[in-house]
Amino acid sequence: MTTAKLIVGNWKMNGLMTDSRERTQKLATAANSHKATEFQMVVCPPATMVDIVAAALKGSEIKWGGQDCHSQQSGAFTGDISAEMLKDLGCSYVIVGHSERRQHHRETSVMVAAKAKAAHAAGLTAIICVGELDHERTAGQANRIVSEQLKASIPDTATPQNTVIAYEPIWAIGTGKTASSEDIRQMHALIRSQVGALPILYGGSVKAANAAEILHIPNVDGVLVGGASLKADEFLAIAQASQ
Ligand code: PEP
Repeated sequence: MTTAKLIVGNWKMNGLMTDSRERTQKLATAANSHKATEFQMVVCPPATMVDIVAAALKGSEIKWGGQDCHSQQSGAFTGDISAEMLKDLGCSYVIVGHSERRQHHRETSVMVAAKAKAAHAAGLTAIICVGELDHERTAGQANRIVSEQLKASIPDTATPQNTVIAYEPIWAIGTGKTASSEDIRQMHALIRSQVGALPILYGGSVKAANAAEILHIPNVDGVLVGGASLKADEFLAIAQASQ
């Protein structure tokens, strides 16, 4: 639906000061050397690195975001970070409901919707992740699982300007396995029928070698990239595959 493809890098729990600064500066320099109208790059570092990434990206074409936020604006939530705090650091985006949060932190779709709503209230675009497990796909349950996650994870405040959906089959995340083009086409068509004009990203072992094919599938408005976003050259090559 969007014209410029959205290329989002999720660094997960990776990055110390030196390598984060170097990687981001490399991205900013490359992005500034050619004006890209075909893609919008977004970097989502760990919370500790947002300030460093922000300093390196200020004035560049690249935006940045958080990997999670709390559903409350502030309060007694030790270790958590609010959407307002991310906004305060210049973030434009926040990922919510990543499968690693759903799995390891037992986040439900209802919690994800509350986080997305908090993101909207703070003026951030929420990237809401959904996706099925391997055995759910094998059992023919993928469509039902994703549909249910979408219904419960998208708050009533969602608009195409403040919400992006990321379809990430869990079995494809960090495994080197990607969904087939036909599976992506079918799932994105189903998601489109449910979310209308909200942009839809694909995520799961995207790399420079498969990005062009994935980015040209109908209803793929961009990609969410984990491991490959930790290498500046690889991440740039993925973005350039939009062209
Ligand atoms: C992710 O973490 O969102 C992801 C898609 O990871 P990877 O690209 O490493 O599979």
